[in-house]
Amino acid sequence: MRDLAADTDLRHLSLNTATVRAQGDLLTIFDAAARHGISVVSPWRDQVAAVGLDRAVRAVKDSGFLLSGYCRGGLFPTDDAHRQAERDDNRRAVDEALALGAPCLVIVVGGLPQYARPESAPSNDIADARAQVTDGLAAMLDYAETVGMPLALEPLHPMTAAERSCVNTLRQALDICDALDPDRNRGLGITLDVYHVWWDFEVMAQIERMGRDRLLAFHVCDWLAPTADLVTDRGMMGDGVIEIPKLRAAVEALGFDGACEVEILSDAWWARPLDEVLTVMIERYHTAC
Ligand code: ZN
Repeated sequence: MRDLAADTDLRHLSLNTATVRAQGDLLTIFDAAARHGISVVSPWRDQVAAVGLDRAVRAVKDSGFLLSGYCRGGLFPTDDAHRQAERDDNRRAVDEALALGAPCLVIVVGGLPQYARPESAPSNDIADARAQVTDGLAAMLDYAETVGMPLALEPLHPMTAAERSCVNTLRQALDICDALDPDRNRGLGITLDVYHVWWDFEVMAQIERMGRDRLLAFHVCDWLAPTADLVTDRGMMGDGVIEIPKLRAAVEALGFDGACEVEILSDAWWARPLDEVLTVMIERYHTAC
């Protein structure tokens, strides 16, 4: 297992830019990251769109950043009238990830259609939503494979099943990988986020099943107890109950040597100054991951 306390160059730390999304635009965040010695980032689509893709690409190049991922494509469940718009949107997400030089595009699959794509007719048929996820991902993979952009399917905690993701466990995500990419050669893998999987009694066995080749991104933050909001109350590493080092040891036992990507969606941290958040984040990267 890597000794992150000794990683003073922060080579294995990535800043997911949603962590400080309230404190400035993407270029402001990139400047702050560079100031703190961070050289790996993972931007979100809306933050890229806000400054323009070309400017974002240039900023990544000029600062010499590496990406650990690009967030995010997916949100597949919709209705027939809006299906083509979903396919086109996901194709654009792949193209943006390519332009930015991302090693993978993170996929959050969406929940029920009225939340995944609010323009859709409502349906509470979650089995149908899950079938649409597999179909939509299959279509997206057909394209992503031809341009060489790996798709990193992220299972989300079951509390998000209606609004954000009807793929809720690592087992379920790996079943989809097995169905669409049985020979493990099409570029379909997993984003493993400790926030979403820490509670799962099968997670260690499923991490072994996943294997090194299917692990494309590793996200960290912490689970606060009690949690006040389903989306925006994630904790800084060390402030909650997740055994982050155990999960990291499990993925590193597979041979994973990619970034520890810090992704904290939190009203509390969004209210604090940018430099303060990055200072605490780096300290906790060294002591609590
Ligand atoms: Zn995540």
